[in-house]
Amino acid sequence: MDRASEAVQLMWFSNGFRHGVHPPDSKELTAAVSVRRMPYPKEIALPLRQHAGKPAVPIVKPGDRVERGDTIAEPDGWVSVPIHASAAGTVRSIDWWPHPDGTVAETVLLEVDEFSPQVARPRLVPRWEGLSPQESVEAVRHAGVVGLGGAAFPTHVKLLPPEGVEVSTLLVNAAECEPYLTTDHRIMVEYAERVHFGIRVMMNALGVERTVIGVERNKPDAIERLRATAPDDLDITVEPLTVKYPQGYEKMLIKSVLGHDVPPGKLPMHVGVVVQNVGSIAAIAEVFETGLPLIERVVTVTGPGVARPSNLIVPVGAKLRDVLDFCDGLVGDVTEIVFGGPMMGASQPDLDAPIIKGTTGIVVLTREESRPRHRYPCIQCGRCLDACPVFLNPSLLGRLAQAGRYEEMVDEHLDTCMLCGCCSYVCPSNIPLSQMFSLSKAAARKRATKAA
Ligand code: SF4
Ligand code: SF4
Repeated sequence: MDRASEAVQLMWFSNGFRHGVHPPDSKELTAAVSVRRMPYPKEIALPLRQHAGKPAVPIVKPGDRVERGDTIAEPDGWVSVPIHASAAGTVRSIDWWPHPDGTVAETVLLEVDEFSPQVARPRLVPRWEGLSPQESVEAVRHAGVVGLGGAAFPTHVKLLPPEGVEVSTLLVNAAECEPYLTTDHRIMVEYAERVHFGIRVMMNALGVERTVIGVERNKPDAIERLRATAPDDLDITVEPLTVKYPQGYEKMLIKSVLGHDVPPGKLPMHVGVVVQNVGSIAAIAEVFETGLPLIERVVTVTGPGVARPSNLIVPVGAKLRDVLDFCDGLVGDVTEIVFGGPMMGASQPDLDAPIIKGTTGIVVLTREESRPRHRYPCIQCGRCLDACPVFLNPSLLGRLAQAGRYEEMVDEHLDTCMLCGCCSYVCPSNIPLSQMFSLSKAAARKRATKAA
């Protein structure tokens, strides 16, 4: 297909996934707020489990001195990444600690050296031009880069498709469809050149010749900046997208931008596409600019319950209480603090929970915006069916979940559920459908393992 036909095809398929919801985007609190750097807190908590795949294995012990950027835990296998010290200091303990997912996890606790200049040890900066694709992938792996959009899937795995799988397009996920969050938005506006450099490195590693960046239309300044800074020698298209949740889910994004359906059980690479979050691409660029691993990230701190809504560069492992303190604390009748957005995010019961690599934002909700608690019976209104972007029957799945009939849920394609929360959002009976499906998935997996 020639380039003109491809462009027509892009326009034709644009914004094409069906169903979904339109929650208020609530991004005005931080959309125009420049990113600033949070100072180093007194203590850093680095969970060994902060990426998809196997947790990292610690290589330090209590009493060890570490410098900023030092490796403190090695990956355990291919689908795993190392963890690095985000500040210079001394290892105080390796113990169980509150994790943002609501459980506890083995965590390296660092006492930060308050007199340290926080300068990393001298290190070699990898030069992407001189590296083979395999060497670039290794550099990304050693830097501990994961998907920064929330899923925290190790990036190096996506960069090395299995033999026989041909990738032709890099699709940059810059939709940021979750309400409130402006992390990716600010990265695109303030670090657009870095994003393009990261794209260059990724295109080289993947051997692809085309990149499309999908950005929701509610970020016109980001679209403009990305277009204005795109290098002439690369085929990069910036594609404005309808503001609709969950536009940023990989399969929805592929459908919207490229018109491809990813069959159930298959990955984007099976339709020739690698999808990468825009923040992760900026993180890859930093590895090849500074040699530093992933030890900090941009986090939106927002919501009506925070005194000074901000976009911050936060050291990975900073505690929730320290980040909130830096934003001048809480205001109003705060009822819920969520990591991630309100649609998909996880409520935080403990202020000691740390920011991890996948933490996109902290949303502080007051009584007015909190999710309704009182639950009524299903009235068979069908709204959840009209909202589900993958055409499931959430009402039926909800009844099966309530009865603990997990095997039947699997027959009803529970695996296809992305836990996007659209069904819960529209349900007039306040049935927490997506939370029920999340628990059901875990229960179904457990039963299947037991039976095997
Ligand atoms: S949470 Fe699952 S069932 Fe509900 S709308 Fe999303 S994909 Fe559909
Ligand atoms: S939206 Fe809620 S009340 Fe309506 S059919 Fe679905 S589960 Fe039942």
